[in-house]
Amino acid sequence: MGEERALIRYDWTLEEIEAIYTSPLPELILDVTRVPELNRLDLDGERPFLGAAVTFRRLETDPAVARLYPLLARAASMVGSVQVRQTGTIGGNAANSSPAADGVSAKSGDGD
Ligand SMILES: Cc1cc2nc3c(=O)[nH]c(=O)nc-3n(C[C@H](O)[C@H](O)[C@H](O)COP(=O)(O)OP(=O)(O)OC[C@H]3O[C@@H](n4cnc5c(N)ncnc54)[C@H](O)[C@@H]3O)c2cc1C
Repeated sequence: MGEERALIRYDWTLEEIEAIYTSPLPELILDVTRVPELNRLDLDGERPFLGAAVTFRRLETDPAVARLYPLLARAASMVGSVQVRQTGTIGGNAANSSPAADGVSAKSGDGD
């Protein structure tokens, strides 16, 4: 898989982005969204934990997120549409490395 991996940078040119999205799919795609630890959302504890596979929909609707990290809950509710939020994860949002990623800036703004 080494040849097919890509590190996303903040300074991609449009040509570079187009090259990624028009390149053939890799032979192997690994879905990590059902790994239990990546779905863990525990913000009440002494050490708050937000798993990378937690979806925006979950962040938007979880009462503890609304209470403890209101900016994150609000930003999550503004991402795309319900369909996008239902599958889009905070980890995927961060790994995309988009400077406009709502999840990353909101997470930082809430003090993380
Ligand atoms: C119609 C539409 C509207 C959108 N609107 C917004 C918006 O308003 N605001 C916004 O911020 N974003 C928006 N997005 C982007 C979307 O929210 C993010 O792309 C989404 O959060 C990605 O999550 P995902 O789990 O689907 O990641 P994927 O698309 O599956 O993966 C994205 C990248 O992250 C990597 N990745 C995924 N999970 C992990 C992990 N656990 N560990 C390491 N790497 C990982 C993947 O390998 C891939 O390179 C929109 C997208 C669409 C299609």
